[in-house]
Amino acid sequence: MGEAARRIGIIGGGASGMAAAIAAARAGCAVTLLERQEEIGKKLLGTGNGRCNLSNLDFDVKRDYRGGAVSRLEAFFDAFGVRDTVRFFESCGLVLTERNGYLYPRSMQAVSVREALGAELERLQVRIVCGCGIRRIETAPGFRVLAEKEAFCFDRLILACGTRAGLPEKNAADGFELARSVGLRTAPLLPALGALRCEETFFRPLAGVRCTAQVELAIRRGDRLETRRESGELQLTDYGISGIPVFQCSRYAAAGLHDGARVTASLDFLPEYEAGPWEALCRRQYRVCLGKRAETLACGLVARKLALVLLRLSGLSPEDTVGEGTRERIFSLFALMRHLPVTVVSVNPVSKAQVCAGGIVLDEVTDRLEAKRIPGLFLCGEMLDVDGRCGGYNLQWAWTSGVIAGRHAAEEGGA
Ligand SMILES: Cc1cc2nc3c(=O)[nH]c(=O)nc-3n(C[C@H](O)[C@H](O)[C@H](O)COP(=O)(O)OP(=O)(O)OC[C@H]3O[C@@H](n4cnc5c(N)ncnc54)[C@H](O)[C@@H]3O)c2cc1C
Repeated sequence: MGEAARRIGIIGGGASGMAAAIAAARAGCAVTLLERQEEIGKKLLGTGNGRCNLSNLDFDVKRDYRGGAVSRLEAFFDAFGVRDTVRFFESCGLVLTERNGYLYPRSMQAVSVREALGAELERLQVRIVCGCGIRRIETAPGFRVLAEKEAFCFDRLILACGTRAGLPEKNAADGFELARSVGLRTAPLLPALGALRCEETFFRPLAGVRCTAQVELAIRRGDRLETRRESGELQLTDYGISGIPVFQCSRYAAAGLHDGARVTASLDFLPEYEAGPWEALCRRQYRVCLGKRAETLACGLVARKLALVLLRLSGLSPEDTVGEGTRERIFSLFALMRHLPVTVVSVNPVSKAQVCAGGIVLDEVTDRLEAKRIPGLFLCGEMLDVDGRCGGYNLQWAWTSGVIAGRHAAEEGGA
């Protein structure tokens, strides 16, 4: 580095921007963090239901990440992985705890993650400018960035603007206009980790039901069929399906619907039963309920609200008697419990999703996360075409990409 410290500007004071700022400032640079909102790290506060699930010890890049170029991600996580994240937070004074592999702050409070990062930024004398939405970037020589009333000059610039996932629709400004204005190509932004809205009207009385289930999503593009299967706690809403297993496959539904594909799902409410034991259970349930109400038989297997809807769909009323006259319909009811077909019409909008799929294509950046065609400009976080499963993988990407961008932006040479 020359006489004066290298000036690094970071647009976006979210998870990846704060990580980038700490990495660059630790390398001796003069760092300025520019944040549109009135405070930094606001989105972090709502993560993990206020507990901030910031990474996961059960980590497999190919399984846990999606996007246009997953094969390139391994190298980034080799450079800064889950163990590095644990050390990074410890070096900031935040102790982590683990629950079934999921990593959280020991306090189980997201605010302590922001507090620890904020205190480290302060110690490193990072200049933080809030209420500063950047509207324009001018490149070469160096970078000039313009907010409504101010302009800033930097030697290197990091774009860490995230996406609009989880933000109210009116929260207009985002970083993609900036990215496109300097010629960076983007893949369509679609909601990921969100609920699915379905065509069927029978969902209305099911709102509030939670149950363990398996969701199998089928996406038909002409004669090509793609399926995704996820299990976990399903949440039924008045418009369709939600909960972790739905979140996990929602980005594929969004991509399919975006391509004009037909998207359906099959819900299995008793996924723990293999075929043989299930058939035996159905026969026993039928036998022991002979002469009783169909409602009793159904409520012995699934939640009451769900049982009533499934009875109706099988052509039964709750008062019908289990017996020869209803046998066929009772066995259709059993079949529906294992395979309730629904038609997905849309994914909840970006404003209600946890992350976005799509973004700046990875082809635009080097392994240093530097824009190939704009030396000195670095990118990190959710702006890039990388999205992770539920379980701390999105924040892990924010820490990984933020630290890599910050470290390389601080390096000597180049721009
Ligand atoms: C409700 C919810 C719960 C979540 N829970 C989890 C979880 O438990 N675990 C997990 O791994 N992930 C979770 N996520 C996802 C995770 O929060 C994001 O993936 C992560 O915050 C992305 O980090 P980022 O730095 O790329 O973007 P952000 O954290 O969104 O930060 C971007 C920042 O840039 C600012 N900005 C944007 N444009 C400009 C501009 N033009 N000028 C100046 N500033 C600008 C924004 O105001 C924002 O502060 C959750 C998301 C939501 C919405």
